[in-house]
Amino acid sequence: MNAWYGLGRSATRPNDSLSPYFMPILSLQNVTKDYSTDAAPVRALDGVSLDVAAGEFVALVGRSGCGKSTLLNLAGAMDFPTSGSVLLDGVATSSLKDAELTKLRREKVGFIFQSFQLLNTLTVFGNVELPLMLAGKPNAREAAGERLTWVELEGLGDRYPHQLSGGQMQRVGIARALIHAPKLLLADEPTGNLDTTTGNLILELLRRLARERNTATVMATHSAEAAALADVVVRLRDGKIQDVVRR
Ligand code: ADP
Ligand code: MG
Repeated sequence: MNAWYGLGRSATRPNDSLSPYFMPILSLQNVTKDYSTDAAPVRALDGVSLDVAAGEFVALVGRSGCGKSTLLNLAGAMDFPTSGSVLLDGVATSSLKDAELTKLRREKVGFIFQSFQLLNTLTVFGNVELPLMLAGKPNAREAAGERLTWVELEGLGDRYPHQLSGGQMQRVGIARALIHAPKLLLADEPTGNLDTTTGNLILELLRRLARERNTATVMATHSAEAAALADVVVRLRDGKIQDVVRR
């Protein structure tokens, strides 16, 4: 196993000036996450360290409740560690003010959901371009059209979500997640609502996009096919990394 993916600090960290150093797009450093509940607090992540480089396709596997969604939420700066740090493109998410966080989430990270989360009252174009419109960026329609080509949905921009198959809806979700050309794509069980064949096409699409666009992708999954396609498989158990397998 490459030390870079190991649980601890590797010799190729920045203070080793003789080694080639590539800053990871995502770095979790000894991350712990506790949720407070009415009963005892729940430790959802317990000392997790992980680096993800640009363009890497990472599968996060493990039983329900092992901490996959928690890890993705921290990686996307939707939530913050109880201790340890999460660095997104070199910046600690816990150090940012609200306005900087909004910009970071918007521009560096794309989210893909199990249930697609499309707005039913908007067309495909409308759904894909919405994040750009909200950010006040120009040429939203043009960018949306380009993203729809990436996910092989050109020509379907004027349809509404109810006129699409599940696989097509997830492609729209992926196009929307890519609208800001983020460096990091986070996907929580992206094939969980799809049949196996359609799910596998989505996985292949995600892997191709990771390669072609150099977008790091971290995907929580129950699917063995997903784990088989990944560059790196991270196995979580009870909030801890059990092993990291790199192909
Ligand atoms: P996974 O996605 O692998 O199923 P989660 O990250 O959702 O796991 O959950 C990890 C642990 O944290 C579980 O024990 C879960 O019950 C708990 N948990 C998750 N979110 C919350 C929350 N908001 N409040 C309290 N406990 C939570
Ligand atoms: Mg989950």
